[in-house]
Amino acid sequence: MSAFIGKYAEELIKTAKYIATPGKGILAADESTGTIGKRLASINVENIESNRQALREMLFTAPGALPFLSGVILFEETLYQKTVDGKPFVDLLLENSVIPGIKVDKGTVEIAGTNGETTTQGLDSLGARCQKYYEAGARFAKWRAVLKIGPTDPSELSIVQNAQGLARYALICQENGLVPIVEPEILTDGSHDIAKCAAVTEQVLAAVYKALNDHHVLLEGTLLKPNMVTPGSDSPKVAAEVIAEYTVTALRRTVPPAVPGIVFLSGGQSEEQATLNLDAMNKLDVLKPWTLSFSFGRALQQSTIKKWAGKKENVEAAQAAFLARCKANSEATLGKYAGGSTDAAASESLYVKGYKY
Ligand code: 13P
Repeated sequence: MSAFIGKYAEELIKTAKYIATPGKGILAADESTGTIGKRLASINVENIESNRQALREMLFTAPGALPFLSGVILFEETLYQKTVDGKPFVDLLLENSVIPGIKVDKGTVEIAGTNGETTTQGLDSLGARCQKYYEAGARFAKWRAVLKIGPTDPSELSIVQNAQGLARYALICQENGLVPIVEPEILTDGSHDIAKCAAVTEQVLAAVYKALNDHHVLLEGTLLKPNMVTPGSDSPKVAAEVIAEYTVTALRRTVPPAVPGIVFLSGGQSEEQATLNLDAMNKLDVLKPWTLSFSFGRALQQSTIKKWAGKKENVEAAQAAFLARCKANSEATLGKYAGGSTDAAASESLYVKGYKY
């Protein structure tokens, strides 16, 4: 059977290709109300709507930053929010050639009988929600599946369940005009070495692309959001060049050239480390048939949020920090990051054990 070709096929291909424009990437600002609450708590700011709005407005209006972005992923609440001057965020982004995206999954639940492995919820009524989000201006979506590495994990059951869930999600998005970002995140938790992470990443991505194919997903109208291939969090660190080599090798073995772009999650790496790793991948002199870019949440926002601390008088400095990260990551998508756009906050590890988004 061939891939799904519905009324949105042409638009999906165009949207995915645009998001994958070299030099641009995605800001993941789609933290759920609970998750953004943790970020706000870290700077002693109350988790109320006006503070969530203020944080997002600060990011979206940072002078000079939007040209480095092709997309921003929003949480449902943010999709309908406005600037304090009354301009819808969606309009603000579109006017700056940044495509609004939307997180559509409803978080993870444990698969009974496994060692704490999970599957992602949100397929029920997904079509109707996608339609609504399309009407509100969203043109792409995100669904996060989570896998972990352990002596017997990920189990075959969790690999199959998560691949099937991603494929169903992707097809439903495409039927409703949204480009699906396919995100099978393999957590960094553990004491495994980088070779183990590479083997598991290849196994998971192979299963994901088999499922996408079985479900007739139009690969040209999708993007992949994977983890970088790294040693486990309890293992010694390795150089960016080693991470680049292992990551690009795993992707070349499993991701079809029909996919226009691969946009990495940062997964608890420090801002600077995530940028250096992306840069090293783009410097690698091997055939890469897709754009390699970023869809960072923590690694784009951490130093900005710290600088802001919820205070109006800090907005300018915080926006400057955000611009620095956007620019650095844009350069990294071209393999042209010289390093050093950093302060102490940017080099801090953002790793949290058992992290839940
Ligand atoms: P991090 O870059 O913080 O890992 O988050 C990206 C994301 O959107 C995970 O779904």
